[in-house]
Amino acid sequence: MANPKKKITHSRKGNRYSKVKLAFVRNFGGLVRCAHCNKLIRSHHVCMYCGYYDGKLIVKQEEKKKASA
Ligand SMILES: [Zn+2]
Repeated sequence: MANPKKKITHSRKGNRYSKVKLAFVRNFGGLVRCAHCNKLIRSHHVCMYCGYYDGKLIVKQEEKKKASA
């Protein structure tokens, strides 16, 4: 079995993430512009303003309002 030769300490891990923090944030859960309404939304999530994802209507806003009311 492949095993790491040495323990990676919390500080080393944190140091590494601090160097690539911008790329890390962009790739994992960063904010992107919605292609439909152009508002800032979380990447890989349905837009909470217009209900679109990947150019398709996923959640109708009327339904959402009824569900929350
Ligand atoms: Zn949108």
